[in-house]
Amino acid sequence: MPRRTLDSLVTEVASELMGVDASTMVAATERVLALLIEYFDVDFSYLRHTDRDRRATVLVAEWPRRVEVPDPDPLQTIYFEDADSVFKALEHATEPFLITSADIDYQATIRRATGIPNVTSAAVPLLSRGESTGVLGFIKAGDRAWSTRELNVLKAIAALFAQLQARVVAEERLRYIADHDDLTGLANRRALLKYMEERLQAGSPGPVAAFFLDLDRLKALNDFLGHTAGDNFIRTLSARLREHLDPADMIARLGGDEFVIVPAKPMDAVAAELEATRMQQLIGRRVTVGGESVSRGASVGVAVGSPGETTVADVLRRADHALLSAKSRGGNGVAVFTDAMRAEFELQDDVELNLRGAVADGSLVLHYQPEVDLRTGRIVALEALVRWQHPTRGLLPPGAFVQVAEATNLAGELGRWVIRTACAQFAQWRRHGLASNVVIRINVSPVQLVSLDFVENIEDILRRHDIDGSSVCLEITEHVVVQDLARTKVTLRGLKRMGVQIAIDDFGTGYSSLSHLKALPVDAVKIDRGFVQRLGANPDDLAIVKSIVGLAGSFGLGVVGEGVETAVAARTLVGLGCYRAQGFLIARPLPADEVEAHLAAGRIPLDLELPGMSRAPKV
Ligand code: C2E
Ligand code: CA
Ligand code: CA
Repeated sequence: MPRRTLDSLVTEVASELMGVDASTMVAATERVLALLIEYFDVDFSYLRHTDRDRRATVLVAEWPRRVEVPDPDPLQTIYFEDADSVFKALEHATEPFLITSADIDYQATIRRATGIPNVTSAAVPLLSRGESTGVLGFIKAGDRAWSTRELNVLKAIAALFAQLQARVVAEERLRYIADHDDLTGLANRRALLKYMEERLQAGSPGPVAAFFLDLDRLKALNDFLGHTAGDNFIRTLSARLREHLDPADMIARLGGDEFVIVPAKPMDAVAAELEATRMQQLIGRRVTVGGESVSRGASVGVAVGSPGETTVADVLRRADHALLSAKSRGGNGVAVFTDAMRAEFELQDDVELNLRGAVADGSLVLHYQPEVDLRTGRIVALEALVRWQHPTRGLLPPGAFVQVAEATNLAGELGRWVIRTACAQFAQWRRHGLASNVVIRINVSPVQLVSLDFVENIEDILRRHDIDGSSVCLEITEHVVVQDLARTKVTLRGLKRMGVQIAIDDFGTGYSSLSHLKALPVDAVKIDRGFVQRLGANPDDLAIVKSIVGLAGSFGLGVVGEGVETAVAARTLVGLGCYRAQGFLIARPLPADEVEAHLAAGRIPLDLELPGMSRAPKV
């Protein structure tokens, strides 16, 4: 190797440091330090950075690496405040300075850290915009003089290090922004996914738990106290999580009030559930924002994945699903993703996949449940209830697929099929002289009700089967009405013009029922089966049913009790003046051919032993 000159040394260092970034900085620095100690014939060299926030000087690299590093290392982080006079001077030094054996404290520090006694030392500050940002230092056992020319070359090299440092800081800042959430400084979605990807790699320790955490009703807080208060609230909670969880745990904010936590330690479902409860309690503690002391409940969904088996997307989807389940139970709770949820999940996927075909290929069927006058047993109506004869899962109840249909744009198609089929069947019965004084009841989903051609559609079907509007009653739920009152009104008026009846289903489970009854052209209410089932046993239910019957009466509406399972419930309804009823006590929903026998009889005899009434006449 040709003998280096002072000038070629600077060039060599510059090229050594050129392509360096945060990840290669230490290794490159070590190579340069090695070069320098050889050239200047010294024993030890180091590069330190100044941390302005902590008011400290921090060791970045040294050469040669010490074989025995004392613990704690007196050279690692030195706070200016309690440093010896030499290190203290580093805080603001802008010119190289030499340290001799006269600096007793410094000699002691170096001896403790490196074992080298009686040193002389040169310290060359790194400067950025005239401020010291670090130091390049050389230590030699015994005496060494430094020429001005040597020190000038070291200043040039220190300048190269200062540039590199500035570049690395800027890079880290960018990296930080890319991986962190602005508001809270927690990890963001990108960082979370990257982290989980690593944790779920085959061979990593498992199981890996993920917690999906969501604050209950944060919106209300934003609305009442303002967004700044809402932001402060989220920041406070984030800091609290960071403080109470293991520093190695991944805590990410996905935006809004959604957080995902992945503990660094492997954790099974049982341990994870306990941990989730702890987090939930942590979040639930009060916070003072905008001068108010507030608290929000939190819901936590938990899922556990196995490295090499479960994908990141699966774990997050399951945790999210568990969270939904926790929320649907009223919030402020914890739910772990279970096999039952998995089954529900698979069913949903399956339904999404196959329902469209089912509408077309005849695997949907309607069952019909009679509604009678409890005093006489006379059949006054039939409710059409859809089922799906699934190729592998058997006969599915509507609860298993109606919601999926609504979430996947199939509600319109399903609804039209139900109306067409029910009306066709009904018309056929009428042609055979059955069901002449019976009303056909059809459930209508919210999505159908707001579709623009709904009224025309019904009109068309009724005309085709020659059914008068008043023989049809459409059942809607209160929730629909609440969602889009204006649109609903238009549709219902259109239906009324054809004489079609409207009933409010599941009455008593919605909100502000009274105002809607006034605003809408409704004919009847069906008392939700939840209130009817335990009538005679539960005094609260009795009070509710009583007030619904009273309310219906004062509005001139019909009232039907559904879910009548016991004779005592039936007798209680009659006692309250609600005569029309539907329920397992009377008849279950039946296939068309089985309900025909009842239609032929015209009544379903009941033995209720009603006081003051003759027994229902038997046919
Ligand atoms: P719903 O309109 O309240 O229908 C009554 C439900 O209560 C039916 O369940 C019926 O089988 C059940 N039921 C009747 N009597 C009793 C009883 O004495 N005890 C108990 N525990 N239950 C009783 P199903 O058939 O599973 O229907 C559930 C819901 O699915 C219906 O509730 C309705 O909201 C919806 N649905 C059914 N068919 C359709 C449809 O064609 N279109 C739409 N959009 N929804 C439908
Ligand atoms: Ca119904
Ligand atoms: Ca109902």
